[in-house]
Amino acid sequence: MSLVITGTMAYDAIETPFGKTDKIIGGSCTYAAYSASFFCKPIKPIAVIGGDFDQAEIAAMKARGIEFDGVEVKENEKSFFWSGKYHNDMNTRDTLVTDLNVLETFDPKVPAACQDCDFLMLGNLMPSLQQKVIEQFTTRPKFIILDTMNFWMDIAMPQLLETIKLVDLILVNDSEARQLSGEYSLVKAAEKMMQMGPKYVIIKKGEHGALLFGEGKIFSAPALPLADVFDPTGAGDTFAGGFIGHLASTKDISFNNMKRGIIIGSAMASFCVEKFGTQRMKEITHADIDARLAEFVELVNFDIVVA
Ligand code: AMP
Repeated sequence: MSLVITGTMAYDAIETPFGKTDKIIGGSCTYAAYSASFFCKPIKPIAVIGGDFDQAEIAAMKARGIEFDGVEVKENEKSFFWSGKYHNDMNTRDTLVTDLNVLETFDPKVPAACQDCDFLMLGNLMPSLQQKVIEQFTTRPKFIILDTMNFWMDIAMPQLLETIKLVDLILVNDSEARQLSGEYSLVKAAEKMMQMGPKYVIIKKGEHGALLFGEGKIFSAPALPLADVFDPTGAGDTFAGGFIGHLASTKDISFNNMKRGIIIGSAMASFCVEKFGTQRMKEITHADIDARLAEFVELVNFDIVVA
Protein backbone atom coordinates (compact mmCIF):
# COMPACT_ATOMS: atom_id res chain seq x y z
CA MET A 1 0.00 0.00 0.00
CA SER A 2 1.22 3.49 -0.64
CA LEU A 3 -0.03 7.00 -1.05
CA VAL A 4 1.11 8.82 -4.17
CA ILE A 5 0.71 12.59 -4.34
CA THR A 6 1.33 14.67 -7.41
CA GLY A 7 1.39 18.46 -7.52
CA THR A 8 3.87 21.29 -7.26
CA MET A 9 7.02 21.50 -5.17
CA ALA A 10 7.68 25.18 -5.27
CA TYR A 11 9.18 28.36 -3.99
CA ASP A 12 6.63 30.89 -2.77
CA ALA A 13 6.89 34.56 -1.83
CA ILE A 14 3.95 35.53 0.36
CA GLU A 15 2.64 38.80 1.67
CA THR A 16 -0.05 38.95 4.35
CA PRO A 17 -1.19 41.86 6.52
CA PHE A 18 1.16 40.40 9.17
CA GLY A 19 4.35 40.09 7.21
CA LYS A 20 6.19 39.16 4.08
CA THR A 21 8.49 36.28 3.15
CA ASP A 22 11.32 35.93 0.67
CA LYS A 23 11.29 32.67 -1.28
CA ILE A 24 10.19 29.85 1.01
CA ILE A 25 9.34 26.24 0.29
CA GLY A 26 5.76 25.64 -0.77
CA GLY A 27 3.72 23.96 -3.45
CA SER A 28 0.58 21.85 -3.42
CA CYS A 29 2.48 18.55 -3.25
CA THR A 30 4.80 19.75 -0.50
CA TYR A 31 1.99 20.86 1.82
CA ALA A 32 -0.10 17.75 1.15
CA ALA A 33 2.85 15.40 1.66
CA TYR A 34 3.85 17.02 4.95
CA SER A 35 0.29 16.80 6.22
CA ALA A 36 -0.30 13.19 5.09
CA SER A 37 3.04 12.07 6.57
CA PHE A 38 1.51 12.30 10.05
CA PHE A 39 -0.90 9.49 9.17
CA CYS A 40 0.80 7.09 6.77
CA LYS A 41 4.19 6.21 5.36
CA PRO A 42 5.68 6.14 2.84
CA ILE A 43 4.38 9.12 0.90
CA LYS A 44 5.46 9.09 -2.74
CA PRO A 45 5.39 12.45 -4.54
CA ILE A 46 5.41 12.72 -8.31
CA ALA A 47 6.79 16.17 -8.96
CA VAL A 48 9.56 18.21 -10.57
CA ILE A 49 12.02 20.58 -8.95
CA GLY A 50 14.91 22.68 -10.20
CA GLY A 51 18.55 22.59 -9.13
CA ASP A 52 17.76 25.53 -6.84
CA PHE A 53 15.59 23.42 -4.49
CA ASP A 54 17.20 23.44 -1.05
CA GLN A 55 18.88 20.09 -0.22
CA ALA A 56 18.11 20.58 3.48
CA GLU A 57 14.39 20.80 2.65
CA ILE A 58 14.63 17.55 0.67
CA ALA A 59 16.41 15.87 3.59
CA ALA A 60 13.73 17.13 6.00
CA MET A 61 10.99 15.62 3.84
CA LYS A 62 12.84 12.32 3.43
CA ALA A 63 13.22 12.12 7.22
CA ARG A 64 9.41 12.15 7.44
CA GLY A 65 8.94 9.19 5.10
CA ILE A 66 8.44 11.27 1.95
CA GLU A 67 10.30 9.34 -0.74
CA PHE A 68 11.85 11.02 -3.78
CA ASP A 69 11.88 8.24 -6.46
CA GLY A 70 9.13 10.07 -8.36
CA VAL A 71 10.65 13.56 -8.04
CA GLU A 72 12.52 14.67 -11.12
CA VAL A 73 15.35 17.15 -10.60
CA LYS A 74 16.13 19.49 -13.51
CA GLU A 75 19.55 20.66 -12.36
CA ASN A 76 19.93 23.61 -14.70
CA GLU A 77 16.44 25.01 -14.28
CA LYS A 78 14.47 26.86 -11.62
CA SER A 79 11.68 25.41 -9.49
CA PHE A 80 8.07 26.53 -9.97
CA PHE A 81 7.61 29.95 -8.35
CA TRP A 82 4.39 31.48 -7.06
CA SER A 83 3.85 34.78 -5.32
CA GLY A 84 0.65 35.98 -3.70
CA LYS A 85 -0.65 38.82 -1.58
CA TYR A 86 -3.55 38.39 0.86
CA HIS A 87 -6.22 41.02 1.41
CA ASN A 88 -7.06 42.17 4.93
CA ASP A 89 -9.85 39.57 5.27
CA MET A 90 -7.19 36.82 4.80
CA ASN A 91 -9.75 34.84 2.76
CA THR A 92 -9.00 36.37 -0.59
CA ARG A 93 -5.68 36.89 -2.30
CA ASP A 94 -4.17 38.14 -5.52
CA THR A 95 -1.69 36.00 -7.39
CA LEU A 96 1.19 38.32 -8.26
CA VAL A 97 3.45 35.88 -10.12
CA THR A 98 3.14 32.33 -11.46
CA ASP A 99 6.45 31.28 -13.03
CA LEU A 100 6.04 27.75 -14.33
CA ASN A 101 9.82 27.28 -14.87
CA VAL A 102 10.47 23.48 -14.59
CA LEU A 103 6.73 22.81 -14.92
CA GLU A 104 6.67 24.17 -18.46
CA THR A 105 8.28 21.01 -19.89
CA PHE A 106 7.33 18.60 -17.09
CA ASP A 107 6.42 15.15 -18.36
CA PRO A 108 5.53 13.21 -15.20
CA LYS A 109 6.75 9.63 -14.97
CA VAL A 110 5.27 7.16 -12.52
CA PRO A 111 8.25 5.00 -11.53
CA ALA A 112 7.95 1.30 -10.65
CA ALA A 113 8.36 2.25 -6.97
CA CYS A 114 5.02 4.13 -7.14
CA GLN A 115 2.97 1.45 -8.93
CA ASP A 116 1.79 -0.14 -5.66
CA CYS A 117 -0.49 2.86 -5.15
CA ASP A 118 -3.89 2.38 -3.51
CA PHE A 119 -4.57 6.04 -2.87
CA LEU A 120 -3.71 8.78 -5.35
CA MET A 121 -3.97 12.50 -4.69
CA LEU A 122 -3.79 14.70 -7.76
CA GLY A 123 -2.78 17.95 -6.10
CA ASN A 124 -3.13 21.27 -7.83
CA LEU A 125 -1.24 21.03 -11.15
CA MET A 126 -1.91 21.37 -14.88
CA PRO A 127 -4.93 19.09 -15.53
CA SER A 128 -3.18 17.44 -18.51
CA LEU A 129 -0.35 16.38 -16.21
CA GLN A 130 -2.77 15.12 -13.58
CA GLN A 131 -4.33 12.95 -16.29
CA LYS A 132 -0.93 11.70 -17.49
CA VAL A 133 -0.22 10.48 -13.97
CA ILE A 134 -3.51 8.54 -13.73
CA GLU A 135 -2.95 6.91 -17.13
CA GLN A 136 0.46 5.52 -16.17
CA PHE A 137 -0.82 3.24 -13.43
CA THR A 138 -0.97 -0.36 -14.65
CA THR A 139 -3.66 -0.99 -12.02
CA ARG A 140 -6.04 1.86 -11.27
CA PRO A 141 -5.54 3.13 -7.69
CA LYS A 142 -8.42 2.25 -5.36
CA PHE A 143 -9.31 5.90 -4.68
CA ILE A 144 -8.31 9.00 -6.65
CA ILE A 145 -8.89 12.55 -5.44
CA LEU A 146 -8.29 15.73 -7.43
CA ASP A 147 -7.64 19.27 -6.27
CA THR A 148 -7.49 22.19 -8.67
CA MET A 149 -7.81 25.97 -8.75
CA ASN A 150 -9.28 28.90 -10.69
CA PHE A 151 -5.98 29.38 -12.56
CA TRP A 152 -6.53 26.09 -14.45
CA MET A 153 -10.27 26.75 -14.92
CA ASP A 154 -9.32 30.03 -16.61
CA ILE A 155 -6.77 28.58 -19.03
CA ALA A 156 -7.51 24.85 -19.35
CA MET A 157 -11.21 24.19 -18.64
CA PRO A 158 -11.83 21.57 -21.39
CA GLN A 159 -8.82 19.52 -20.29
CA LEU A 160 -9.81 19.90 -16.64
CA LEU A 161 -13.28 18.49 -17.39
CA GLU A 162 -11.64 15.48 -19.10
CA THR A 163 -9.50 14.81 -16.04
CA ILE A 164 -12.34 15.28 -13.55
CA LYS A 165 -14.21 12.43 -15.30
CA LEU A 166 -11.50 10.01 -14.17
CA VAL A 167 -11.50 10.64 -10.41
CA ASP A 168 -13.54 9.49 -7.40
CA LEU A 169 -13.56 12.75 -5.47
CA ILE A 170 -12.95 16.40 -6.33
CA LEU A 171 -11.94 19.08 -3.83
CA VAL A 172 -12.41 22.75 -4.61
CA ASN A 173 -13.07 25.91 -2.65
CA ASP A 174 -16.43 27.67 -2.77
CA SER A 175 -15.59 30.19 -5.48
CA GLU A 176 -13.98 27.48 -7.62
CA ALA A 177 -17.08 25.28 -7.16
CA ARG A 178 -19.20 28.16 -8.47
CA GLN A 179 -16.84 28.82 -11.39
CA LEU A 180 -16.67 25.16 -12.36
CA SER A 181 -20.41 24.51 -12.14
CA GLY A 182 -21.90 27.89 -13.05
CA GLU A 183 -24.18 27.51 -10.00
CA TYR A 184 -24.28 29.90 -7.04
CA SER A 185 -25.85 27.40 -4.62
CA LEU A 186 -23.12 25.11 -3.32
CA VAL A 187 -25.62 22.23 -3.14
CA LYS A 188 -26.45 22.62 -6.83
CA ALA A 189 -22.75 23.14 -7.61
CA ALA A 190 -21.90 19.85 -5.89
CA GLU A 191 -24.66 18.04 -7.80
CA LYS A 192 -23.30 19.38 -11.09
CA MET A 193 -19.75 18.38 -10.20
CA MET A 194 -20.92 14.85 -9.38
CA GLN A 195 -22.56 14.70 -12.82
CA MET A 196 -19.09 15.43 -14.26
CA GLY A 197 -17.81 12.07 -12.95
CA PRO A 198 -16.71 12.03 -9.29
CA LYS A 199 -18.93 10.21 -6.79
CA TYR A 200 -17.90 12.61 -4.01
CA VAL A 201 -17.28 16.34 -3.76
CA ILE A 202 -15.62 18.37 -1.03
CA ILE A 203 -16.16 22.11 -1.01
CA LYS A 204 -13.72 24.03 1.19
CA LYS A 205 -15.04 27.26 2.63
CA GLY A 206 -11.92 28.65 4.32
CA GLU A 207 -12.70 29.92 7.81
CA HIS A 208 -16.27 28.57 7.40
CA GLY A 209 -15.24 24.91 7.22
CA ALA A 210 -15.93 22.32 4.55
CA LEU A 211 -18.81 20.33 3.04
CA LEU A 212 -18.72 16.71 1.89
CA PHE A 213 -21.31 15.51 -0.66
CA GLY A 214 -21.94 11.96 -1.90
CA GLU A 215 -24.27 8.95 -1.74
CA GLY A 216 -27.16 11.45 -1.44
CA LYS A 217 -25.74 12.74 1.86
CA ILE A 218 -24.13 15.97 3.04
CA PHE A 219 -21.70 16.39 5.94
CA SER A 220 -20.65 19.80 7.21
CA ALA A 221 -17.41 20.27 9.14
CA PRO A 222 -16.51 23.52 10.87
CA ALA A 223 -13.14 25.23 10.74
CA LEU A 224 -11.67 25.84 14.17
CA PRO A 225 -12.29 29.50 15.04
CA LEU A 226 -8.72 30.81 15.45
CA ALA A 227 -7.80 34.08 17.12
CA ASP A 228 -4.85 34.58 14.77
CA VAL A 229 -4.53 33.49 11.17
CA PHE A 230 -1.06 34.36 10.01
CA ASP A 231 -0.76 32.87 6.50
CA PRO A 232 -3.49 30.82 4.77
CA THR A 233 -1.16 29.61 1.97
CA GLY A 234 -1.29 25.86 1.58
CA ALA A 235 -4.28 25.41 3.92
CA GLY A 236 -6.27 23.69 1.16
CA ASP A 237 -3.43 21.33 0.28
CA THR A 238 -2.76 20.60 3.94
CA PHE A 239 -6.47 19.83 4.39
CA ALA A 240 -6.41 17.47 1.41
CA GLY A 241 -3.21 15.78 2.63
CA GLY A 242 -4.71 15.13 6.07
CA PHE A 243 -7.91 13.81 4.47
CA ILE A 244 -6.24 11.37 2.08
CA GLY A 245 -3.57 10.43 4.64
CA HIS A 246 -6.36 9.34 6.98
CA LEU A 247 -8.17 7.35 4.27
CA ALA A 248 -4.92 5.67 3.23
CA SER A 249 -3.93 4.77 6.78
CA THR A 250 -7.35 3.25 7.56
CA LYS A 251 -7.90 1.81 4.04
CA ASP A 252 -11.55 2.71 4.50
CA ILE A 253 -13.40 4.76 1.86
CA SER A 254 -16.84 4.71 3.48
CA PHE A 255 -18.75 8.00 3.78
CA ASN A 256 -18.45 7.76 7.58
CA ASN A 257 -14.68 7.49 7.40
CA MET A 258 -14.54 10.42 4.98
CA LYS A 259 -16.35 12.44 7.66
CA ARG A 260 -13.47 11.67 10.04
CA GLY A 261 -11.04 12.52 7.25
CA ILE A 262 -12.60 15.94 6.81
CA ILE A 263 -12.25 16.73 10.49
CA ILE A 264 -8.62 15.57 10.42
CA GLY A 265 -7.98 17.67 7.31
CA SER A 266 -9.55 20.68 9.03
CA ALA A 267 -7.37 20.16 12.10
CA MET A 268 -4.22 19.99 9.97
CA ALA A 269 -5.24 23.13 8.03
CA SER A 270 -5.80 24.95 11.32
CA PHE A 271 -2.11 24.41 12.18
CA CYS A 272 -0.92 25.37 8.71
CA VAL A 273 -2.31 28.91 8.91
CA GLU A 274 -0.66 29.71 12.24
CA LYS A 275 2.74 30.53 10.71
CA PHE A 276 4.27 31.16 7.30
CA GLY A 277 4.73 28.29 4.87
CA THR A 278 5.33 24.74 6.10
CA GLN A 279 6.77 25.89 9.44
CA ARG A 280 3.94 24.56 11.63
CA MET A 281 3.95 21.22 9.79
CA LYS A 282 7.60 20.88 10.83
CA GLU A 283 6.93 21.73 14.48
CA ILE A 284 3.75 19.93 15.49
CA THR A 285 3.55 16.49 17.08
CA HIS A 286 0.90 13.77 17.19
CA ALA A 287 0.00 15.01 20.67
CA ASP A 288 -0.72 18.48 19.23
CA ILE A 289 -2.96 16.91 16.56
CA ASP A 290 -4.84 14.83 19.14
CA ALA A 291 -5.40 17.89 21.32
CA ARG A 292 -6.75 19.82 18.35
CA LEU A 293 -9.05 16.98 17.34
CA ALA A 294 -10.45 17.03 20.87
CA GLU A 295 -11.14 20.77 20.40
CA PHE A 296 -13.09 19.92 17.23
CA VAL A 297 -15.14 17.32 19.06
CA GLU A 298 -15.90 19.86 21.78
CA LEU A 299 -16.75 22.54 19.20
CA VAL A 300 -19.49 20.58 17.47
CA ASN A 301 -20.73 18.38 20.28
CA PHE A 302 -24.28 19.11 21.40
CA ASP A 303 -27.13 17.27 22.93
CA ILE A 304 -30.61 17.72 21.57
CA VAL A 305 -33.74 15.67 21.84
CA VAL A 306 -35.60 15.42 18.52
CA ALA A 307 -39.24 14.56 19.11
P1 AMP B 1 -3.43 26.87 -1.54
O1 AMP B 1 -3.20 28.02 -0.60
O2 AMP B 1 -3.92 25.64 -0.86
O3 AMP B 1 -4.21 27.26 -2.75
O4 AMP B 1 -1.99 26.44 -2.08
C1 AMP B 1 -0.93 27.33 -2.26
C2 AMP B 1 0.22 26.60 -2.90
O5 AMP B 1 -0.15 26.26 -4.25
C3 AMP B 1 1.46 27.45 -2.97
O6 AMP B 1 2.45 26.87 -2.17
C4 AMP B 1 1.84 27.50 -4.44
O7 AMP B 1 3.18 27.18 -4.68
C5 AMP B 1 0.94 26.49 -5.12
N1 AMP B 1 0.38 27.01 -6.36
C6 AMP B 1 0.00 28.28 -6.65
N2 AMP B 1 -0.48 28.38 -7.90
C7 AMP B 1 -0.43 27.13 -8.43
C8 AMP B 1 -0.80 26.57 -9.69
N3 AMP B 1 -1.33 27.31 -10.69
N4 AMP B 1 -0.63 25.24 -9.87
C9 AMP B 1 -0.12 24.48 -8.88
N5 AMP B 1 0.28 24.94 -7.68
C10 AMP B 1 0.12 26.25 -7.44
